[in-house]
Amino acid sequence: MDAEKPEKREKLLVVEDEVDIRELISFNLEMCGYEVIRASDGMEGWEKARAEEPDLVVLDLMLPGLDGFEVCRRLKGEKSTQAIPIIMLTARSEEESMVKGLELGADDYVTKPFSPRVLVARVKAVLRRKGVLKETTSHRTVSLHGIAIDPARHEVRVDGKSIVLSATEFSILFFLAENPGWVFSRSQIIDAVKGEDYPVTSRSVDVQILGIRKKLGDRGNCIETVRGVGYRMESVE
Ligand code: CA
Repeated sequence: MDAEKPEKREKLLVVEDEVDIRELISFNLEMCGYEVIRASDGMEGWEKARAEEPDLVVLDLMLPGLDGFEVCRRLKGEKSTQAIPIIMLTARSEEESMVKGLELGADDYVTKPFSPRVLVARVKAVLRRKGVLKETTSHRTVSLHGIAIDPARHEVRVDGKSIVLSATEFSILFFLAENPGWVFSRSQIIDAVKGEDYPVTSRSVDVQILGIRKKLGDRGNCIETVRGVGYRMESVE
């Protein structure tokens, strides 16, 4: 594989019960220079995620014991693991699984059957996004409409109360909040948070926005839908 090697060895956890698929994924990620930890069921995945604190988890949905949704829910519910990005693997192409995964805080999903190249590209994109967030440590906190967004601490407070967003939700909210009053199309939002090479449907932007609004509660309506165009953060004036 001619892909560029990551600078430091990032540690990835692959949770998949089907040994052929697990090895295929792990092998391809190792070829890209990543350190790969393997887990063959949901409980093992959950335990290894807590013990190893990987940089990213590739999580199959259909697992014996704890399924992927439950593992995701647990990871997002615990302080030490909630910031770890998750890419869900699903054999189901139905939208509900995808939507449910994203609602639970997964950063992305890949539908089976997939090519290892596609998965590797998604892994890189999510890690890059996470890196971008880390680099914004000098960035100031953005406060508006009762929402305070601290990119350095990856923390959002609504009327003083801390809420938990996935990395993707956080990136979208931060992007909109930095540019209040400006309308952005779905594809501009995708470009801003994921890079231009990223194949995401407009529908998944809608799902992310829906998730952000829900988590913002009463403040959620400060993200306005501009019919036929996209979204904007209500201006502060
Ligand atoms: Ca499976």
